[in-house]
Amino acid sequence: MGESKQMYINGEWVTAESGETLEVINPATGELVGTASFGDSREAKKAIDAAHEAFGGWSKLTARERSKYLYTLSELVKNSRDELAGLISAEMGKPLGEAKGEVLGAADNFVWYAEEAKRVYGETIPSSVANKRIMVLRQPVGVVGAITPWNFPINMVVRKIAPALAAGCTVVLKPAESTPLTAVRLFELIEQAGFPKGVVNLVVGKAEAVGQEFIDNPKVSKIAFTGSTRVGKLLMEGAAKQVKRVSMELGGHAPFIVFQDADLDAAVKGLFESKFRNSGQMCICTNRLYVHEEVADAFTEKLVERLKKAKVGDGRQKETEIGPLVNERALNKVLEHIEDAKDKGGQVVYGGSRMTEGDYAKGFFCEPTVIANVTDEMKITYEETFGPVVPIVRFTDEADVVRQANDTRYGLAAYVYTRDNQRCFRMAELLEYGIVGINDGSPTQTQAPFGGFKESGIGREGGHFGMDEYLETKFVSFGL
Ligand code: ADP
Repeated sequence: MGESKQMYINGEWVTAESGETLEVINPATGELVGTASFGDSREAKKAIDAAHEAFGGWSKLTARERSKYLYTLSELVKNSRDELAGLISAEMGKPLGEAKGEVLGAADNFVWYAEEAKRVYGETIPSSVANKRIMVLRQPVGVVGAITPWNFPINMVVRKIAPALAAGCTVVLKPAESTPLTAVRLFELIEQAGFPKGVVNLVVGKAEAVGQEFIDNPKVSKIAFTGSTRVGKLLMEGAAKQVKRVSMELGGHAPFIVFQDADLDAAVKGLFESKFRNSGQMCICTNRLYVHEEVADAFTEKLVERLKKAKVGDGRQKETEIGPLVNERALNKVLEHIEDAKDKGGQVVYGGSRMTEGDYAKGFFCEPTVIANVTDEMKITYEETFGPVVPIVRFTDEADVVRQANDTRYGLAAYVYTRDNQRCFRMAELLEYGIVGINDGSPTQTQAPFGGFKESGIGREGGHFGMDEYLETKFVSFGL
């Protein structure tokens, strides 16, 4: 298995002072994938010092110079596509095809922000006083503490570090405990791309200790986080003490609405993508399916037919469409939601259990599951399930389904299938969500804004919106 992977601080590979290590387990097989040195606030502090020291030089480079590093990194990531995808799949279980798509998405983000770096425009504004001139500058916020989850081990990292670096910020990254090895490999490529020392730093370490250092250390200007709403709130509370900038991509509870005039085959395809990609472990995953009474039976039948064909397995096997859940805790939560729904009158139409036959017993596999007769007392209708379970609710009235769809503290993604153009526009406006997929089950693109309303977060990643999160606005008033 080789030696423990190290952290990357101030341009050097280092080991945790504590001597502790972290084991990464493949959720499909229970096998050890590798180990990583596991630090704490000491390494976080060193990395922050390094990023702070590097900020002066990095932020003063021309945008074109910063851009070059990002282009180089994009090529390196693209060329390591197969290796990175294999690592992602081994660490958290997603099918190789999805993992490759994620890596290419990461490379695309580096290119996008290499380009966007050159377009940080200020403004001049006509003054209302004859002998004054108004100039508006956009400047990098400073050192960014980034904390990322395991469900997109490379892309969640890149969607933070690419705009941050493009804007002229320096970064300390703390990746998720389940997927540190993908982050280490990315940092090897960062080293290869030749970034000046201290500009990008990696601290694999204890979440609370590192998070607290990001909060307390005055050298950190901004915290960028993707993860649960619970942890997001903790970080926001902490950040408030020094009024640090935050951007937060938190939980979701997406409704997926199928109207009676929908193309049902397209809707089944869209639902499959939005519910079963990454085994249902995405914050934009469908969590509630609303189907019009008139088409509910036909839709359910088509969905079950599709699921019968879906191959569940080790993500590294070619034919796998749905991998395992990331760990036992995640699997148990999904099973608990299924049991809770059953106890309250839910009817399991397909699946419903842990998979334990043969090799499945070694991993954390759950059958793709469909539950009918779902009511809003069931946990599955208000808590994030993060697994391959579709709860079906029937509806008859448009206004009523919109009210139900919006009746949640989350507001990340919503999906609608209909062929009525006017309804498309009504839905686009009425749904209280940051992302609305209309006849589209996978609404994510590098150049589009990604983020949530309500308790799903603050700020946006992606496109030029993503740059704004790493820039301050300065008003300079010239007296003549
Ligand atoms: P999930 O349940 O999906 O793992 P979390 O919000 O727990 O979501 O984790 C997302 C990221 O937040 C991970 O990198 C994790 O280590 C980190 N994290 C968890 N708890 C804390 C905390 N108290 N402070 C800072 N980061 C945390």
